[in-house]
Amino acid sequence: MIRMDSVTKRYPDGTVAVDRLSLEIPDRSITVLVGPSGCGKTTTLRMINRMVEPSEGTILLDDVDIQKQPVNTLRRSMGYVIQNAGLFQHRTIVDNIATVPRLLGWSKAKARARAAELMERVGLDASLAKRYPYQLSGGQQQRVGVARALAADPPVLLMDEPFSAVDPVVRKGLQEELLWIQEELGKTIVFVTHDIDEAIKLGTMVAVLRTGGRLAQFAPPAELLSDPADAFVEDFLGTDRGIRRLSFFASGELELKTAPIVAVDSTAEQIAVRGTADVPYLLVTDLEGKPLGWSEPGDLTAGEVDPARLLPYGRPFEYGRESLRAALDGAVLSPTGWAVGVDGTGRVVGVVSQQTIGEAIRRAHADGRTDAKVAG
Ligand code: ADP
Repeated sequence: MIRMDSVTKRYPDGTVAVDRLSLEIPDRSITVLVGPSGCGKTTTLRMINRMVEPSEGTILLDDVDIQKQPVNTLRRSMGYVIQNAGLFQHRTIVDNIATVPRLLGWSKAKARARAAELMERVGLDASLAKRYPYQLSGGQQQRVGVARALAADPPVLLMDEPFSAVDPVVRKGLQEELLWIQEELGKTIVFVTHDIDEAIKLGTMVAVLRTGGRLAQFAPPAELLSDPADAFVEDFLGTDRGIRRLSFFASGELELKTAPIVAVDSTAEQIAVRGTADVPYLLVTDLEGKPLGWSEPGDLTAGEVDPARLLPYGRPFEYGRESLRAALDGAVLSPTGWAVGVDGTGRVVGVVSQQTIGEAIRRAHADGRTDAKVAG
């Protein structure tokens, strides 16, 4: 565990960048430092690997004061990733990644083998190994930065706005990969961002800092959304707090209905039977069980279903894997007010009304339970 005890950083010009900050950063999870520009995030991160020395207070790594450790040993236990990757421009990708292992005295062959393994892990094609950084896209360079930081297998990873300079689509991919790497490797990650959505998506714990380097709130993301400590945090979280919090409730407990589902090749009798179910609409699926659209029962004629004339089914949600937010979104997007639950292959497993989703939301709030991390 990394423990910061009343840490203050005053720069020589008198700027107080961090003010009596106390934080307990848990092992094997992602702790995000978030806040507006200039609130002391980078300074805090850099004090952890002693690129910046605190003016007051102590930082303990596994109960040992980091001031008492040789700075090189400390830094070797901490990978560091920055915006724009900070790669060595005159070195190939494989040699960039192998930098720290080489410094540690590994043979060239062993260091390169390790680099190749990491390239695969962060989703970089082996064919890029011999290229130079300028020959890669921004997102690929960021992946190299992550691979380089992981090369010597340090227990701690410090990441300073690593994904801020890439476009939103690539950024989403990088975030998902980081969550996956975290799950697989169990590193202790301290992640700096000014983007509250990124903080909520990635953080196991989120520290919100305010200008002047003071801690405004330290909590799991679902708790930030449900109980912001004060007006500053509430304002920083922005609108749609309630809707966004639904991302933390899994959809697996929703009771789905299968009665209102008919395949496109259904007979007149099958349609008639389904049509008597207590639902105003029937969902028509293709022969594989994938959704085509909704219809009022009286508008369906066996053998004459025209998919183009069906009502849209919104965006289906993956039942159990995606959250109540995805389910509600699906229901809101369809003119019928019903959401379509699918399995991992896109086949319909059941449908659920906005009303049932609303009841599930109320139950989840009443339980005060959240399901740690749910996709979507
Ligand atoms: P953030 O990462 O949240 O944007 P920083 O930690 O970079 O914030 O900076 C916090 C405050 O400290 C800012 O007011 C910044 O101008 C100031 N600061 C940062 N580095 C220095 C420095 N080397 N000398 C003087 N002031 C600094």
